[in-house]
Amino acid sequence: MIELDNLDVKILTHLQGNSRKSFQEIARNCLTSVPTVKSRVDRLLELGVISKFTIDIDNSKLGITEAILLVNAKPGAVSRITEELKGLEEVKELYVTSDSDAAIVSRVAGDMQRILAIQDRINLTDVNNIRIISVKNAFRKDSTIPLASSSITLTCAYCDRKVAGEAVRKKIDERDYFFCCTTCQGEFERKYTKLLAKA
Ligand SMILES: [Zn+2]
Repeated sequence: MIELDNLDVKILTHLQGNSRKSFQEIARNCLTSVPTVKSRVDRLLELGVISKFTIDIDNSKLGITEAILLVNAKPGAVSRITEELKGLEEVKELYVTSDSDAAIVSRVAGDMQRILAIQDRINLTDVNNIRIISVKNAFRKDSTIPLASSSITLTCAYCDRKVAGEAVRKKIDERDYFFCCTTCQGEFERKYTKLLAKA
C-alpha cells in the first residue's frame, strides 16, 4: 500500500489543477523547497501514483458538443447495441443500467451532426427508443483525490492530530489546508485572520 501525506496530496492537487505548474510555484504554495517538491514528484512517478502528465482540452473551443445518449431496447439486444456503440469514436462513457426505461446510458462527445446521426450508424433492430440530450454544463469531480483513502495519512493543520476519516479541505490564500473537523478549520481561520490583521 502506498502511503501519502499532506504534502503529497497538496502537490498532487496542484498538478491536477495544472500539470505545467512550476516546482517553484508549488514549493511556494506548500511552504517547502523546490528540491523537496522535485523529490516528492519523482517518488510519486516512481510509485506510479502519477502515471502521466496530461492536458485537458476545452471541447467547446473546438466546436465539440457533449450529449447524453439514452437507449431503450429489448433485453436481448442490449449487449449487441453496447458493442456497436463502444465502437463509435463519439462514445466516451457507457453504462448498461438496470432501469427498464433506459437500458443504455452513454456520454458522447464530438461533432453534433455526427452525434445526431448515431441512430443511423447503429442497427436499430429491437431498439424501442433512442434519445440524444445535449449537455449544457458538465461538472466532473473525478479528478480530485478522494481524501478518505486508507493510503493517505493527513495531519490537521490546526491541532496537528492525524485525521481519521474524511479530512476537511480548505483553500486559504491559494494554499491547501487539511483539518480533522470543521471546529479546527474555524479556529484556524480565526487565528489566521487575526494574524493577517496584525501584519
Ligand atoms: Zn484538528
